[in-house]
Amino acid sequence: MEIKKVPMRKRGLKERVRSFSEVALGYTEEEAVEEASRCLNCRRPSCVKGCPVEIDIPGFIKKIKEKNFLEAARIIKENNPLPAVCGRVCPQEDQCEKSCILARKGEAVAIGRLERFVADYEAKERKLSSTSDNHSSSGKKVAVIGSGPASLVCASELSRKGYSVTIFESLHEPGGVLVYGIPEFRMPKSIVKREIDYIKSLGVRIITNFFVGKTATIDELMKREGYEAVFIGTGAGLPRFMHIPGENLLGIYSANEFLTRINLMKAFLFPEYDTPVKIGERVGVIGGGNVAMDSARAALRAGAKKVTILYRRTKKEMPARIEEIENAEEEGIEFRFLVAPVEYIGDEEDWVREARLIRMRLGEPDSSGRRRPIPIEGSEFKIPLDVVIIAIGQSPSPLIARTTPGLKIDSRRGTLIVDENTGQTTREGIFAGGDVTTGAATVISAAGAGKRAARSIDYYLKNKM
Ligand SMILES: Cc1cc2nc3c(=O)[nH]c(=O)nc-3n(C[C@H](O)[C@H](O)[C@H](O)COP(=O)(O)OP(=O)(O)OC[C@H]3O[C@@H](n4cnc5c(N)ncnc54)[C@H](O)[C@@H]3O)c2cc1C
Ligand code: SF4
Repeated sequence: MEIKKVPMRKRGLKERVRSFSEVALGYTEEEAVEEASRCLNCRRPSCVKGCPVEIDIPGFIKKIKEKNFLEAARIIKENNPLPAVCGRVCPQEDQCEKSCILARKGEAVAIGRLERFVADYEAKERKLSSTSDNHSSSGKKVAVIGSGPASLVCASELSRKGYSVTIFESLHEPGGVLVYGIPEFRMPKSIVKREIDYIKSLGVRIITNFFVGKTATIDELMKREGYEAVFIGTGAGLPRFMHIPGENLLGIYSANEFLTRINLMKAFLFPEYDTPVKIGERVGVIGGGNVAMDSARAALRAGAKKVTILYRRTKKEMPARIEEIENAEEEGIEFRFLVAPVEYIGDEEDWVREARLIRMRLGEPDSSGRRRPIPIEGSEFKIPLDVVIIAIGQSPSPLIARTTPGLKIDSRRGTLIVDENTGQTTREGIFAGGDVTTGAATVISAAGAGKRAARSIDYYLKNKM
C-alpha cells in the first residue's frame, strides 16, 4: 500500500504568478480512484470524528473506488452543501485527515482532494444530485443573516427540513469571505456561485443589498415580516489595526479592504474596472495567517515586484495552512520572521515609504498555545516599502448587537455569546454561529456551527408554545 498521497497537479509557476487563475488543478478520474484505494474503509472511522459536518467519509470514498462518482457526491451533500468549497480551502490537515488512521504511520488519505474531485466531477456532468430529505413546507419562516458558509449551511439544512428560509446579505453578492476574501487563484468565484445555486435549488431565497440593523432590524423582521426564528452568521469582517504611528498613511490597507478591492471590484484590472488599488514595487504584509498569505500572493499577481511577509513569530507558529505557505514560498514571497512594525514613515505626499521594525524573541506559550513574541530592546531597523497590507485579524461588527435589545456580546472579543452546542443566543428565537461567535476561524467550523444551529432551530420551532 502507498504511504504517500497521490500528488495534485498545479499550474506552472511562471504562469501562475502573473495570473489569478486557480493554482491547484485537482485530480483526474484515475488519480482519484488511485487515492481512494488507499482508504481502509475502517469499521470505526476516526476521520468522521474530525469532520465538523459529519460527512460519511469512508462511504463516499468507497463510491469513488467503485467509480460511482455521482453517488459519492450525493453522499457528501447529505451533510455538506459546499463540497467544492470545502475540498479546496478547509484545513483538512487539522480536521478529518489529522484523525485518519493512515496519518499515524504515513500520509492520511487526501480526503479534501477527493471531496473536491467529486464535486467538480458532478458539476462537469451537470447533474445536481438530489438528497433524500423531504421538501414539504412547514410554512414557518426563518431569517438567516449573512451569506457566508455558516449561513449557507444553516439555510440549506433548514430548507431541507421544510422551513421557508430567506437569507439577508448586506453585499451585492452572496458567499461571505468565500467571495470577497479568498482570492480567485484559490477559490474561483464561479465555483462558489455553483454551490450557492445548488442551495437556492433547495428552496432558499437570497436577498442581497439588505443590511440587517440598517435596512431593517432583527425585531422588525420578526414582528413585521413574521420570521419565527433568526440565525445570525454575519462573520468577523471588522479589521484590526496595531494603532502605531503612521498607520493612517496612504498606501496602508487592511487586508479586508485590499482583498475586497481585488476580488469584488477587480481593482487589478483598473482602468477597465473603476476601483484602483496602488500596488507599488515593494509590498509588506503584516501577519502569518491565511489572510496574510492571500494578500501577499494577490499583491504579487497585481504587479508588485517584491512582496515580504513580516511575522512576529517563526514559521512554526504561523496559523496559515501549510499548503498555502508552500505556495507562497514557491511563488517567491519573502518571509521575515520575528519582526513587528513599530512605525510607518511617509513622504511629503503622505504615502508610506518605510516601516520601522523591531526584532522579537519567543517567550513562554500564551493563551493561544503559541510562544509569546517579546520585543528585543534596541533592535529596531528600517525597511523601504511602497504599500503595506495589515492582516493581523478581524472582529465582528457591533451593529447587530447594538440594534437588537437583549443580544449579549463578549465585551473583550466583540463576539456574540451563544451556547456552543445549540447556537442559542441570549435572546429567545435568535441563534448564531460562525466567525461572529468565535472570531475569525475556518470555513468548516462555521459550516459545522450552521448545521448545529439548524438542528436547534428545528427543535425550537417544533416545541415553541
Ligand atoms: C482572506 C481570507 C482567507 C481565508 N482562508 C481560509 C482558508 O483557506 N480556509 C478556511 O477554512 N478558512 C479561511 N478563512 C476563514 C473563513 O473564510 C471564515 O472563517 C468563514 O468564511 C466564516 O464564515 P461565516 O459564515 O461565519 O462568515 P463570513 O464568511 O464572514 O460571512 C458573513 C457574511 O455576512 C454578511 N453580513 C455582515 N453583517 C451583515 C448584516 N448586518 N446584514 C446582512 N449581512 C451581513 C457579510 O457581508 C458576509 O457576506 C479565510 C478568511 C479570509 C478573510
Ligand atoms: S480513517 Fe482514513 S483510512 Fe479509515 S476510513 Fe477514514 S479516510 Fe479511510
